[in-house]
Amino acid sequence: MRILVFNAGSSSLKFGVFDLGAATAQIFKGSFERFRDGGCNFRFQGEAGDDSGTAPHGDLAAAIGAVPEALAEWGVGDLDAVGHRIAHGGPDFSGPAKLDDASLPRIEALTPLAPLHNPANLEAVRVAMETWPDLPQVGVFDTAFHLSNPARATTYAVPEAWREAGLRRYGFHGTSHKYVAHRAAEEMGQELTDLRIISVHLGNGASVCAVNFGRSMDSSMGLTPLEGLVMGTRSGDVDPGAFGFLARQLGLGIEEIEAALYSESGLKGLTGSSDMRDVEDRAAAGDRTAQLAINLYAYRVRKYIGAYAAAMGGVDAVVFTGGIGENSASMRRRICDGFDFMGLHLDHDRNQAVTLEGRAAPQIQAYGSRVAVIVTETAEQLQIAREVAAHLAHPAPEARQIPVAVSGRHVHLSSEAVDALFGEGYELTPGKPLRQPGNWAAEERVTLEGPKGRLERVAILGPLRKRTQIEVSRTDSFALGIDAPVRDSGALDGTPKVRLIGPAGHFDTDGLIVAARHIHTNPEDAAAMGLEDGAFVDVRISNGVRDLVFDRTLIRVQDGAFTEMHIDTDEANAAGLGAEGEGALIEQSATVAGE
Ligand code: ADP
Repeated sequence: MRILVFNAGSSSLKFGVFDLGAATAQIFKGSFERFRDGGCNFRFQGEAGDDSGTAPHGDLAAAIGAVPEALAEWGVGDLDAVGHRIAHGGPDFSGPAKLDDASLPRIEALTPLAPLHNPANLEAVRVAMETWPDLPQVGVFDTAFHLSNPARATTYAVPEAWREAGLRRYGFHGTSHKYVAHRAAEEMGQELTDLRIISVHLGNGASVCAVNFGRSMDSSMGLTPLEGLVMGTRSGDVDPGAFGFLARQLGLGIEEIEAALYSESGLKGLTGSSDMRDVEDRAAAGDRTAQLAINLYAYRVRKYIGAYAAAMGGVDAVVFTGGIGENSASMRRRICDGFDFMGLHLDHDRNQAVTLEGRAAPQIQAYGSRVAVIVTETAEQLQIAREVAAHLAHPAPEARQIPVAVSGRHVHLSSEAVDALFGEGYELTPGKPLRQPGNWAAEERVTLEGPKGRLERVAILGPLRKRTQIEVSRTDSFALGIDAPVRDSGALDGTPKVRLIGPAGHFDTDGLIVAARHIHTNPEDAAAMGLEDGAFVDVRISNGVRDLVFDRTLIRVQDGAFTEMHIDTDEANAAGLGAEGEGALIEQSATVAGE
């Protein structure tokens, strides 16, 4: 299968053609860079040799338009698909996606999250769709690998309204981190799923990723690619209080501050040059500012490596990639020095002797080091080509993140039950509203009693229902001494009896169930997920603690419902979840409830 891969940025267009057969080969490599008035630099490498120089294309659109002709000139044809690197896939794109009338508007809507990158990516998609209308076009997202990050890694501790507006950590460079983690595992001769790897991508942009048994668990970039490490022109971590300080002291506006953090900071801000080679040369010549920049750069990476080793409870390999990670032996040494306490010892000779020809991934740790240290070139385009091919061979249903709420034991009461428990004509006091509109937890509580024991202070959820329903966990049902069946809400015929006790008396009723897990959703979200009321789906919980897949989760569609999965406390404990978490919808089974 022959795949053309585009990586379009605001100031460059890189593209490659890959033959994914028994022996994978890159058969063409091209780039248009440094767009300026009336021209840019180009470089092509194909089977016939290579060529470079200046081309008359002054912007990205013109450069993309020139790709078909370049491919024709170099005799590269018979394409089967086009793959596109897309920077931001938001919370929904957790794998490659076919680019079509359904997915493109959803990607366009993510532009505010990546205003510099996504529009350039989409420009390439638009031209490619016009040029090759019959070829499948597939997007591979930089954020997708990190959608497995647990909520504790993705959540900023900011007001709820901000979080609801979409402020969360995403992480980038996912395709690179995924590729180098695989390559490192291959080099070590072990399964990726048996390893805890810290992937350190140091290019013009830079990030560190904790790859915990094959899945991204955390990474240093956040909502935007600004957070984390010191980069070529980006600051990485700064105190958010800087915004107020700069506004007050220097009278700077948000745009100015943001532009400076993106383009005038990092190595450039510290030394005037964004190029690590320059900075290293100047440091070697005794320039104090350059020496500080290098120390600061290495120190920030060291802190993240230490943090991720702690987050994963250990580390088996540290992998360096990106222009600096691949080429700067002195930077690798600075970063790794002093990690002996965690069993990482660098071999300085091996570190100096790294060569990366032919996808090599040399190990440069000292003999006896418990942690492997590996250097390898990143191959994002190759990884994209592979993911495109895999997606076309087995188009996976689109995985989607769904909030998971954990339901503690509770009851829904009929008016007859309220009368018996609290007195004739009593009205429950609505307390905390629940996320499902119109639902609330009452201020009052009841006691449940069974032959073996009691459960005190059980929550009452309103509004009242026609029939009393008592939802407990399996563990609760053991405590009561009543064998409660797993049932969907409302399916109460034949359910066992339990005694409810309130301040005014008791009420014996059937309706004791262990609620079957389910997903509440509304018609709009259901349509977007391609799901119908009564369908069953599988949901994967991956928090790096007790990951598991909940199969046969019932979809319940109701107007105005908040899309959310409900599980009980036993299920949450089994999955290592706290009061709430997140799950990824991974599969839709064909069954419909009742069949
Ligand atoms: P991008 O993120 O744009 O793909 P690269 O991965 O090519 O960038 O990384 C560019 C960075 O790598 C620059 O800071 C460059 O100075 C640095 N670099 C490349 N070669 C060396 C080297 N031999 N020693 C130190 N730094 C290097």
